[in-house]
Amino acid sequence: MKPTHIEHLGIAVKSLDTAIPLWEKLLGTKCYNIEEVAEQKVRTAFLKIGQTKIELLESTAEDGPIAKFIEKKGEGIQHVAFAVEGIEDTLAECEAAGIRLIDQTPRKGAEGLTIAFLHPKSTGGVLTELCEDKNKK
Ligand code: ZN
Repeated sequence: MKPTHIEHLGIAVKSLDTAIPLWEKLLGTKCYNIEEVAEQKVRTAFLKIGQTKIELLESTAEDGPIAKFIEKKGEGIQHVAFAVEGIEDTLAECEAAGIRLIDQTPRKGAEGLTIAFLHPKSTGGVLTELCEDKNKK
């Protein structure tokens, strides 16, 4: 794949109420969007530095992926998201290269992006997200 930049870093947090003021203070910028992604059982909050975002992820259910992540590893970086152009082709390319996909076909993520995850077993233990902003074109 040929990502154009790191779109965002996903950080698992126990509480957005605690994490938002912390990250606002750390980065000297305000959270500009809070959005629930029901399908993923998360509430997300975004801050932006340059063209890269910090995505804070709070679980909305005990059995959600973020709750499970925190249970196993504690709070911290949960995934890295790369911006790509042509996400369908990029997924096909990854699959052809033997990389395991979590999402066979792209789906809707937060911020109006089209997203798909690659399996951490194929990416050195780093949960990797591909994102494309299809609204931009
Ligand atoms: Zn993400």
